[in-house]
Amino acid sequence: MLTRTSRFLKEANLIGGEWVQADSGETIDVVNPATGQRIGGVPKSGAAETKRAIEAAHKAFGEWKATSAAHRAKLMRALHDAIMDNQDALAELLTMEQGKPLAEAKGEVGMSAGYVLWFAEEGRRIYGETIPSSWADRRMMVIKQPVGVVAAITPWNFPSSMLARKIGPALATGCTSVVKPATATPYSGIAWGMLAEEAGIPAGVINVVTGSSGAIGGELTSNPLVRKITFTGSTEVGRKLIAQSADTVKKVSMELGGNAPFVVFDDADLDRAVDGAIAAKFRNTGQTCVCTNRFIVQSGIYDAFVAKLSEKAKAMKVGDGLEDGTVQGPLIDQDQLEKVEELVADAREKGGKIETGGKPHALGGTFYEPTVISNATKEMRFTQEEIFGPVAPVYKFQTEEEGVALANDTIYGLACYFYTKDLGRAYRVMESLDYGLVGVNEGVITAVEAPFGGVKQSGLGREGGHQGIEEYLEAKYVCLGGLGF
Ligand code: NAP
Repeated sequence: MLTRTSRFLKEANLIGGEWVQADSGETIDVVNPATGQRIGGVPKSGAAETKRAIEAAHKAFGEWKATSAAHRAKLMRALHDAIMDNQDALAELLTMEQGKPLAEAKGEVGMSAGYVLWFAEEGRRIYGETIPSSWADRRMMVIKQPVGVVAAITPWNFPSSMLARKIGPALATGCTSVVKPATATPYSGIAWGMLAEEAGIPAGVINVVTGSSGAIGGELTSNPLVRKITFTGSTEVGRKLIAQSADTVKKVSMELGGNAPFVVFDDADLDRAVDGAIAAKFRNTGQTCVCTNRFIVQSGIYDAFVAKLSEKAKAMKVGDGLEDGTVQGPLIDQDQLEKVEELVADAREKGGKIETGGKPHALGGTFYEPTVISNATKEMRFTQEEIFGPVAPVYKFQTEEEGVALANDTIYGLACYFYTKDLGRAYRVMESLDYGLVGVNEGVITAVEAPFGGVKQSGLGREGGHQGIEEYLEAKYVCLGGLGF
């Protein structure tokens, strides 16, 4: 056990400022995906505990929303500092439960702190409006107010920063929240409760429940006290949560699945494109919503791109994320490993050529070799399915129109990337791609200052940027009469 980390291995839920166990006393095991060893167990809470957490958040909302923006920003700066003071320990915790290399985990924790600071600053700029009045004797204005109790459900692939994007704007606007982290990676979520306490954020403003997703999600979506659901995860679960939230007409923000294309035109800078490709594909073992799912490469540069990408992928050091030099960790669990194996077998059967990798790694467990597959075709399953693993299929195209059409041929619309040195093409292609995020000659583009989110079935709403705070606010129109004009 790592000593710095151990204080964050908190095995309790935070409800109304109290650290509590599940009513049943049951726990769920948490396993380190790199070693297969049990790290510990967290409460298996359900609907009753969630209802109490919602009521605690509702109770805290009255006082929290009445605090000044400056006061909330001060506490949020303290929260930022608490995260950064514990960056190494929180990164180790994250790597232990999630598997990503320590450097990536440290980056994620830094990004979490960055979101908190960004929203602390943005919270002080929630301006209303005055409107030129339709009447000579009345005045019209709009004020912005917090939506109320927010329910946040997050995935295992970014267990810290996905919460930062939700807790940050909730705190800044004066909302209170009930948070449900993914079951595979609950400790990084529970840590938010500990850090918030240390920063002096009042009891009930942030509540954390872990456990049965169906029961917790059912309560969060049906309880009328919850006014907003913010979810990051698969499109399948997102659809369900939207439907469940309909009866109580909640505001919903959805950050869902992706099928990112990475288009390389003949005129691209090859080395730059390959470096971008490695980052956009293999980060977090391919388990990010913005990871490239399909490389779409023009015929003139195809062979050179495949050769260089394969060479670099082959050289990647796979291992336990806590070991020095590891650049790719394990997959999150056995199910994910089996899915990757199925997709590779399907591609092989349909004529895909394995350039490198193509099988589980010699380390065993859920480790998988960084893989490049050329001769990818539309018939292969990963053309439409999210891989969520270190597999890079490479498709070939001839014309710009064909490349764009292939890139857009999906129900998803989260991130996309393309490489060209032609300015006209850069504009044409950028405007034609049906995606919420576009990287032009860049493979990693997420930043706290920029709006993040998808179109089509990749989601609703935006997180980060100044747009990310609007989702937590209601606009109230006020018409003032009887003013004596
Ligand atoms: P997931 O299976 O949809 O789970 C996400 C969260 O939803 C987890 O906390 C999960 O709880 C919970 N959940 C599952 N079923 C639920 C239900 N019926 N009611 C309420 N909550 C429920 O997704 P994942 O496998 O953790 O994450 C991978 C997916 O997230 C990928 O599709 C990826 O693209 C997407 N993602 C999107 C973004 C984005 O910003 N657009 C960012 C990161 C990831 P349990 O853990 O207890 O099952």
